[in-house]
Amino acid sequence: IEMTTWVLGDQLTRDVGPLSRADADERVLMIEAHAFARKLPYHPHKLVLVFSAMRQFRDELRADGHDVEYHQVETFGDGLDDHFDAHPDDSLVTMTPAGHGAADRLETLVTERGGEIEFVADERFLCSIERFDEWAGDDERFQHEGFYRMLRRETGYLIEDGEPVGGEWNYDEANREFPGDEYDPPDPPRFEPDDLTEEVAAWVDEEFAGGYDEPPYGGEWADPGAFVWPVTREGALDALTDFVEHRLPEFGPYQDAMLGEEWALNHALLSTSMNLGLLHPREVAERALDAYREDDLPLASVEGFLRQVIGWREFMRHVYRRAMPDLATANLLNADHTLPNFYWTGDTEMACLADVVGSVRERGYSHHIERLMVLSNFALLYGVRPDEINRWFHAAYVDAYHWVTTPNVVGMGVFGSDRLSTKPYAASANYIDDMSDYCGDCRYAKTKTVGENACPFNALYWDFLGRNEDPLRENHRMGLVYSHWDDKDSEERAAIRDRVDGIRELVEVDDL
Ligand code: FAD
Repeated sequence: IEMTTWVLGDQLTRDVGPLSRADADERVLMIEAHAFARKLPYHPHKLVLVFSAMRQFRDELRADGHDVEYHQVETFGDGLDDHFDAHPDDSLVTMTPAGHGAADRLETLVTERGGEIEFVADERFLCSIERFDEWAGDDERFQHEGFYRMLRRETGYLIEDGEPVGGEWNYDEANREFPGDEYDPPDPPRFEPDDLTEEVAAWVDEEFAGGYDEPPYGGEWADPGAFVWPVTREGALDALTDFVEHRLPEFGPYQDAMLGEEWALNHALLSTSMNLGLLHPREVAERALDAYREDDLPLASVEGFLRQVIGWREFMRHVYRRAMPDLATANLLNADHTLPNFYWTGDTEMACLADVVGSVRERGYSHHIERLMVLSNFALLYGVRPDEINRWFHAAYVDAYHWVTTPNVVGMGVFGSDRLSTKPYAASANYIDDMSDYCGDCRYAKTKTVGENACPFNALYWDFLGRNEDPLRENHRMGLVYSHWDDKDSEERAAIRDRVDGIRELVEVDDL
């Protein structure tokens, strides 16, 4: 029987999976399904990234002798029609796609056309499904820390004699610094688009023009600057080297900091490559560990990075798998507000939100704390529906896929579900001021809660606690903040509610 490896668009790897075991002349199927790109108002850089990376991968495989059949069509169904017309009864093999229900949908499409498809393990991760399920058992209340320690032990990363190197599992305390005024972080790399990427960019502009329109605005919401992301294996490896040499040493201390002028700071900028299969988390982790051993990098930075890559990233994948389909529509706090327009336009006088949204409009990226403590935090306090803010993240970010965006946004970001954290990441202006340089020049006063020039984060924060007393007060980790809420008398509470009404009115007329 004939056999074809189907390489899905985010499985661009030859190091693991069926392609790593295929003969060089074996047939490969790739389908570029354009209808996907029309489903959401995607940032154009996301579309350039995915389509260019697929075409680059196709060309590399062909150069190495693979017979790659590459279909540029509207839907997977159209691509499979073409494929099975040419190769009736073919058997396909592919790694199980990460999106919930995707394997079932593909199987139906294939069997409807008389073909067969075998799904094998998705080897783009360190921790297999079997291993996670064995560790977690039937208990659905698993926690990241335990998972991370299990994986550290199992990989032996930063482990000596069964114990964590340095004696601690966690160096978060050393990792919450704010850089001084004179700090000049390394410049993030920019991967000059080659001819193929330029061609894809021109095609995306034409083919999907207006594809990133979002009502009620109409107009093109993104404001794309230079395209900066690697789209090949070679580029991704360069990005890894650049990060380990220049930014990893200070990754730890400054990973929670936000500077208006610095979009990348010391972050890795590797999520796009890992999520496409261009880099394996194992090699990413091991390069960081090599640098730790050979170049004496600070333990807190290397451990902090490891925690993200082998801890959080892998954990999110499994939480998604175990918590779907409920997670996508979870709404623990019954949040029912629509997403403010400034998430699309950046048009707000709140300096932090304007800057972070501006960065997302420009390049489809902002770093973790900006995602969590600015964008999600505002949505959480404002009471935006979790599925709406999830959809926005999915459309706006170059590294977004349903499997990773959903647990991060619905779970961690807006506490639509308590599967990821036991309490919401809710914070007032105080936190943002501590960790950023935004508040100094902001039109809104970080120290005020009520009145027209008070920072909206403050009244929204108290109002959020007040509105959600049930179910949050019961949570022992919320005890301290509720004791502050209890100190507020009815007059103060009424003033907070007034201010929040005012904020909501301003949001409605796009004037916050
Ligand atoms: P760094 O900060 O340098 O971290 C290193 C790597 O660790 C990342 O490349 C990433 O692969 C991994 N990582 C760290 N934290 C997480 C996490 N919570 N979940 C998954 N991987 C993690 N990540 C995505 O890949 N796609 C998303 O769509 C996405 N949406 C997010 C939405 C919200 C609301 C939040 C709070 C986080 C989201 N994240 C998402 C996680 C994280 O913010 C990004 O992975 C990270 O900012 C990517 O940039 P970086 O490569 O510079 O990461």
